[in-house]
Amino acid sequence: MIATESNGAQGAANYSVKSGMNMGNHALKLNKYSVGVGDRFAHQAKAQLQACIKALQHGAEVVPVWNKSNREHNIIGSEPTSVRQAADAAVKALNWKLPYYCDADHITAATVDRFLAPCDFFTFDVADFIGQPAQPADIETFVKKHPELNGSIELPGNDEPAEITPAHLKQTAEKFLAAVKKAGEVHRRVLGAKGAGNFIPEVSMDETDRAQSPVELLIILAAIADEGIPVQTIAPKFSGRFNKGVDYVGDVPQFEREMALDIAAIAYAVKQYGLPDNLKLSIHSGSDKFSIYPAIHANIKRLNVGVHLKTAGTTWLEELIGLAEAGGDGLALAKEVYAEALAHREELCAPYANVIDIDPQELPSADTVRGWTSEQYTSALRHVESNPAYNPSLRQLLHVGFKVAAKMGPHYLDLLQANETVIARNVTENLYDRHIAPVFLGTRI
Ligand SMILES: [Zn+2]
Repeated sequence: MIATESNGAQGAANYSVKSGMNMGNHALKLNKYSVGVGDRFAHQAKAQLQACIKALQHGAEVVPVWNKSNREHNIIGSEPTSVRQAADAAVKALNWKLPYYCDADHITAATVDRFLAPCDFFTFDVADFIGQPAQPADIETFVKKHPELNGSIELPGNDEPAEITPAHLKQTAEKFLAAVKKAGEVHRRVLGAKGAGNFIPEVSMDETDRAQSPVELLIILAAIADEGIPVQTIAPKFSGRFNKGVDYVGDVPQFEREMALDIAAIAYAVKQYGLPDNLKLSIHSGSDKFSIYPAIHANIKRLNVGVHLKTAGTTWLEELIGLAEAGGDGLALAKEVYAEALAHREELCAPYANVIDIDPQELPSADTVRGWTSEQYTSALRHVESNPAYNPSLRQLLHVGFKVAAKMGPHYLDLLQANETVIARNVTENLYDRHIAPVFLGTRI
């Protein structure tokens, strides 16, 4: 399989560095369109890359970023180097000529060290520090430094100017400044280890209780620029529910407006603060949000901007679907994973409490599932909402249930290997047909 290079030059031309920040002469610049792919067990990198190759064949240059968070490495007992090895091997095997990256996803100063060597994309997670008090002197300095953030701000591409009062500016600084300072701390650590321009910085604030408004995003970006972080992707928390592995729950037109205003805030911040001109939104827990994909596509086309769609666990569910579809030992194992996940539901759900909504009443018993055919299992699990047997509670439980498979060790991995063809087909189809094509090419699911 050959990936063409024909679209590469366009990416390079669009991304000349005009930013005021020192990013080095040959700074890595993330392409306009990119997709975060998670590969819990480091066996699906080729199948995932195949989805990007398919996109290229259909005219969209979407570069892959393999992401795995510290939390997932800890749950599975894996090391970040395994992600790099799997990505490199897939790129080599499929002769992918465009860029690709490995993302140290949701890391902090405390957890970054083992990601430094294998990663070239770092997602600084500051959600835990939002709302922690900043030093009063820091707040005062910030407010004084940004008189342009007082009053009425014309956001490009939007009719309504944003109004910021001095009290609002101060309150926002009080809420977010300490978090941004934390991002600065971990950024400086990565910078010291890797050097300017050798990595892509992202700042994430998605795993928190309240959505950030576009005005807050603008103020946060001013603070990020003050910290000297040449941020290329930013992941705010949007309104609505972004639960793991299932569709968006919320007001879709409101999401579309909010996203457009966030894009306008980014454009303003790029111009005003010299942030990298390819800075774009990163949509976390972005997999399976089928109802907002038309809105995302409409915005990126209308406003001619990029987006990073971060997916992760949706691929592990395709492993289970592929095993179930294969029947025999594969189906038996998929049932065993469900039985164990059900038995350890509370423990498995705890780290993801903010981002799942499981109705225990909707979960079939382990015995019921033991009696299922391949078709019954895949119909319940596969994210096809028009299928009456689709069960979002079961899907979310299995989404967080990868620890069960990790505990099975070689037994699980051997079956992945034995059923590679059927699993790979499901992984590629899911990523391309249900994610990449609707978001980047505008096809309807
Ligand atoms: Zn996230």
